[in-house]
Amino acid sequence: MAETVTQTCPVCQVKIVPCGVMGDRVEFAFGAPSTRDVLWQRVCRHTQKNGCINKGTGNTAL
Ligand SMILES: [Zn+2]
Repeated sequence: MAETVTQTCPVCQVKIVPCGVMGDRVEFAFGAPSTRDVLWQRVCRHTQKNGCINKGTGNTAL
């Protein structure tokens, strides 16, 4: 059984909950849970600080 360890991004203050084959679920401080892709588009892409645990999804060229 896979471990489910919730991570909290210290920069973006969002929780990332591993959901196995379903992919990771992202819980924002408010609003509905979403995906890492959405988190990246909404938050981390703009933050660009060291310490953010949600790096780019690979399809965003900087
Ligand atoms: Zn982040």
